[in-house]
Amino acid sequence: MFCGKCGTKLEDSTIFCTHCGVKTIGSKEIPKEIPKERKQEVPAIPKERNFGSIVSGVLTIILGTTASTLVLSTLIPFPYGLTLALIVDGVLIVCGVKLILRGIKKK
Ligand SMILES: [Zn+2]
Repeated sequence: MFCGKCGTKLEDSTIFCTHCGVKTIGSKEIPKEIPKERKQEVPAIPKERNFGSIVSGVLTIILGTTASTLVLSTLIPFPYGLTLALIVDGVLIVCGVKLILRGIKKK
């Protein structure tokens, strides 16, 4: 091989150039490290978020209204319990619909 700085012919095993003293290992073609592949971009998952929001909205409506109706109408005497349950159901439905709409809107 030859010195990368001064061009003096050197033994392959030579570490420093006998002429100029430069380190010759560096001048030898050392395969550069192949740059690692880009980190895989974390895939955005808006769809799942949307899906989760929609599901939670539906669950809120179905489970919430069912539970509130059952519990309130059981615990509280007829006219009042059912009335209260309907009010709670209304609130739950509004919340659930908001969740669903949020899930649909986010794209
Ligand atoms: Zn040299």
